[in-house]
Amino acid sequence: MEVQGMDVQPATDRRTMSGVEHIDLVERYAAHNYHPLPVVVSSARGVWVEDADGRRFMDMLAAYSAVNFGHGNEEILDVAREQLSRVTLTSRAFHNDQLGPFCKALAELCGMEAVLPMNTGAEAVETAIKTARKWGYKKKGVAEGKAKIICCDGNFHGRTTTIVSFSTDPQCRDGFGPFTPGFEIVEYGNIEALAAAIDDDTVAFLAEPIQGEAGIIVPPEGYLQQVRDLCTERGILFIADEIQSGLGRCGTTFCVDLEGVRPDIFILGKALGAGIVPLSAVVSSREILSVFTPGDHGSTFGGNPLAAAVGRKVVDVLAAGTYQARAKELGDYLFQKLGTLETDAIKEIRGRGLWVGIEMEKEAGTASQYCKKLLKRGLLCKDTHEQVIRLAPPLVITREEIDWAFERLEEVLTQPLN
Ligand SMILES: *Cc1c(COP(=O)(O)O)cnc(C)c1O
Repeated sequence: MEVQGMDVQPATDRRTMSGVEHIDLVERYAAHNYHPLPVVVSSARGVWVEDADGRRFMDMLAAYSAVNFGHGNEEILDVAREQLSRVTLTSRAFHNDQLGPFCKALAELCGMEAVLPMNTGAEAVETAIKTARKWGYKKKGVAEGKAKIICCDGNFHGRTTTIVSFSTDPQCRDGFGPFTPGFEIVEYGNIEALAAAIDDDTVAFLAEPIQGEAGIIVPPEGYLQQVRDLCTERGILFIADEIQSGLGRCGTTFCVDLEGVRPDIFILGKALGAGIVPLSAVVSSREILSVFTPGDHGSTFGGNPLAAAVGRKVVDVLAAGTYQARAKELGDYLFQKLGTLETDAIKEIRGRGLWVGIEMEKEAGTASQYCKKLLKRGLLCKDTHEQVIRLAPPLVITREEIDWAFERLEEVLTQPLN
């Protein structure tokens, strides 16, 4: 697809309603649990989306990294279409011919032995928590009801009642108690704090290798290796939530690969379903996942043949390594360009691969104000935590498309908001 900016195209038959009318319907009939930018996407290809009024925008969010392989990736769509016409859901009451090959391929990609498929990220996090607790009771010998899991401040692991129980974001918790006990918070990136928090009842440390929703927070160099060593030494599980950081985003298959580290449990989601189906997974050793026996845990849609077929294709695509290499090379290119921006409005630029957080100075305005301005110039970016603009384009982005995005970023970030 050629690179171009916003251009108004004649309405097609499909566009019977304008963007404003769509937004009005959502305002009236949908719960207001999101505050989206005022753009109504009606189709997308690669890094480009088109709205209901025929305007084109570049997607610099990629659905929070769920669309790493691009919108409408034909290679993956072909697999989905093929499977769609065969069989889509059997439930785990029966076997299906897609689950085994998917689990084998994913376990191998992870350098692990076994996979427990779920659907959403939050479900996989819940599954990892259940795994760690049961492992603690059955294998480590923790007294019933005492298992403790250590998490980090600034974490984001999803929205279920148990997961928000250990969120440190007041808004995530407000009005949702009573909360699930059994979690303790330590400072992210601080290995001494983790060491001090581990006791005899501790079963696991759960963390994002780079904190996404917190604003692309990269821990100090060597932290992941220290976490790995400490968890091994103290006999607790290291659970890496790679739902957003994994599957190519950081220029490596997993973010932990940046330090050559393997956790005990990987939690995967988002891009695993290529933005086509919800697909998540807990990946670990046979020994750890053997805490589950039939009837302990499950999901009607978990491991369904449509998702498994898509997931296996995603794994095949990642096994080839080209997306990771792209994310590394083009990420370096983007960082180098961003480094040339001359403005006092930017406090810090950080990230890995094609995952960038641009933190704006408070005096210069909020990230959401900048995102609204970028939207007007054809760039879809989303703010996170007040001051951070997140850039996470689909990994299919080209050098020329990065140049196009950079021109707009430069224009908006180096000039006062008004
Ligand atoms: C998005 C995300 C989740 C939750 O995934 P859902 O599919 O939205 O439930 C969990 N952990 C991390 C790190 C995420 O980025």
